[in-house]
Amino acid sequence: MKECIFCKIANGYLKTDFIFEDENFVVFKDLNPQAPVHLLLVPKQHIVSINDVDDENKKFLANSFVTIKHVSQKLGFDKTGYRTVINTGKDSGQEVQHIHFHILAGRKLGWPPG
Ligand code: AMP
Ligand code: ZN
Repeated sequence: MKECIFCKIANGYLKTDFIFEDENFVVFKDLNPQAPVHLLLVPKQHIVSINDVDDENKKFLANSFVTIKHVSQKLGFDKTGYRTVINTGKDSGQEVQHIHFHILAGRKLGWPPG
């Protein structure tokens, strides 16, 4: 966990501009954006993936939906639409082993994803 980049970002050890922060989550821009808007919602607590959701952390993780809604309204892409993605494990291409939502907006998003 000490070497986890998202733990460092979310807990303020790496200077990052947050679009949103509360006691449980931060939202910031993805370093390698795949759309005009590409944000990451990251919990401050180290949870590797959906495979590690349990009765304890599910209580605050559920609030991620409220946070995404709030951020989409704040930036205005709630009107045009957006996509949320959570990659889990090897086949999904999950690179960072700390659970996170991708939030993509600002262009037509193709389906199915690659
Ligand atoms: P995933 O493949 O779902 O694990 O996605 C990891 C995402 O984190 C990728 O889209 C990266 O571009 C992004 N990323 C990695 N390191 C950073 C960083 N330091 N700041 C912002 N985004 C990052
Ligand atoms: Zn972490």
